[in-house]
Amino acid sequence: MEKNMLIPFNKPFLTGKETHYMYEAVNSGKLSGNGIFTKKCQQFFEEQYGFKKTLLTTSCTDALEMAAMLANIKPGDEVIIPSYTFVSTALAFVRQGAKIIFADSGVNNPNIDVDLIEPLITKFTKAIVPVHYAGIACNMDKIMELANKYNLIVIEDAAQAIDSYFVNKNGEKKALGSIGHLAAFSFHETKNIISGEGGMLAINDDRFIDRAEVIWEKGTNRSQFFRGEVNKYGWVDTGSSFLPSEVIAAFLWAQLENLSLIQSKRINIWNNYHKGLKKLNDDNKIQVPYIPNFATNNAHMYYIVVKNIEVRDALIVFLKEKQIMPVFHYLSLHLSQYYHDKHDGRSLNQSDRYSDCLLRLPFYYDLKEEQVIQIAAYINEFFEANK
Ligand SMILES: *Cc1c(COP(=O)(O)O)cnc(C)c1O
Repeated sequence: MEKNMLIPFNKPFLTGKETHYMYEAVNSGKLSGNGIFTKKCQQFFEEQYGFKKTLLTTSCTDALEMAAMLANIKPGDEVIIPSYTFVSTALAFVRQGAKIIFADSGVNNPNIDVDLIEPLITKFTKAIVPVHYAGIACNMDKIMELANKYNLIVIEDAAQAIDSYFVNKNGEKKALGSIGHLAAFSFHETKNIISGEGGMLAINDDRFIDRAEVIWEKGTNRSQFFRGEVNKYGWVDTGSSFLPSEVIAAFLWAQLENLSLIQSKRINIWNNYHKGLKKLNDDNKIQVPYIPNFATNNAHMYYIVVKNIEVRDALIVFLKEKQIMPVFHYLSLHLSQYYHDKHDGRSLNQSDRYSDCLLRLPFYYDLKEEQVIQIAAYINEFFEANK
């Protein structure tokens, strides 16, 4: 292969049908939201993954904001969230006035450590927001048990978790996003299935379905009106404009038609990284992704965790010299400029460790097998030279 070809971190994958369906949407004369393509996408998700009801949104951030509104989060309420996550996971609840109670990640992977949640629950706690990091399930049996015991709402941040599953204690395989009362997905161009910007709210609890449609449509009962259930529509609740235009839904539809192709390609890339880096993991040089028995792998990303930030910095420089662009992400939110003085001061060591030591490797549909093998070989070479 050409050795000096730049390997970016991400490259959005196009199936070839996107502009075709967008053209169709434009020519249909209906460009606003909740049209034919929106309904096709929503029906696909509901049938494929068993979500009770889905609503496309303009981002996962939007879907989380809808969830926070549906959960009726108010000033003084507490919401338990992992600190090692994207800003939006917390921000959606902060906008409603919630106090965020940050929880630490596990030792084996960056998901919330479920054994640390119960002591954080108080009489003010309203919700738990588990994040399925890298599309790998959190232990949802334990989280739902706590939710039942303390009457809490569970909102899955499933931004990275499309087409991934949790096997529950009864051996049933449940799609991520179908277990909590509510769940939010992202179709941002860095995710497995994309529409540039885009997202979806999944609603699995009947209590929230009617109100979700109202919040989605600027606080009006317009969806009911279009179904002929009321003879005029008006302002009935709070809300915003959360629905994407048909042009976006048309783009997304082209991706959904190719979902299994995209997924099998990504799984291949993931497996090749895993094979190439296994020895470094066994030799205790790096930590590779850990997938618990109850979880499946949707190949959202491949990451490694190194010993400290100095090693990570050096490895980034080494790979960039080879024209390979890895990225690190998530600085613990409890230490962020915006929230550190509102945090209760507990240190969250695993979250900080992933902030310093986790590195994401290039991962996209068009990444070639020989490129993956080459990247893994370079990483082996780096650790060989830095014994
Ligand atoms: C990508 C991501 C988001 C935000 O998604 P947007 O669609 O960009 O709003 C939220 N949470 C997690 C864990 C993510 O990875």
